[in-house]
Amino acid sequence: MKSKTLLLIKPDAVQAGNIGEIIKLIEDDGFTIEQLNVFHMEDELAAKFYAEHLGKEFYDRLVKFMQRGNVIGLILKREDAVNNLRELIGNTDSSKAASGTIRNLFGNHDIITSNAVHASDCPESAKREIGLIFPEYKY
Ligand code: ADP
Ligand code: MG
Repeated sequence: MKSKTLLLIKPDAVQAGNIGEIIKLIEDDGFTIEQLNVFHMEDELAAKFYAEHLGKEFYDRLVKFMQRGNVIGLILKREDAVNNLRELIGNTDSSKAASGTIRNLFGNHDIITSNAVHASDCPESAKREIGLIFPEYKY
């Protein structure tokens, strides 16, 4: 059965002009785009979205990085959407991401935080994160 997940194109990839290439890879991999928006991650949203990371040493850097510029949000649909998208984006550390993955291609191999995209890590996270980024969307 088809399911949904959330992808964010982070400010580094937006500023580098990589939106189009990332969307091309996603569509070529069999995902369809259900919703798309452009937003800035304000403090309140950042605190909710990254609540699981609060207290970690990289938390402040992560939030500051996400607030550097616009973010693109996409609700994506496909069979086993969460797992297939995690595979397509690759390892959190872009220098360890497999060849051809989005983070391998567009992430900064010297700065872990700057890894081009976010993807939900399980179906429960996908539902929660879609609710935060697309509050009007009927899941
Ligand atoms: P993922 O995005 O692969 O699910 P996490 O949920 O663990 O990874 O982390 C959220 C984000 O925080 C990462 O995408 C990355 O931008 C940043 N991050 C994670 N771990 C580190 C780290 N050790 N140092 C710096 N930034 C990190
Ligand atoms: Mg995560």
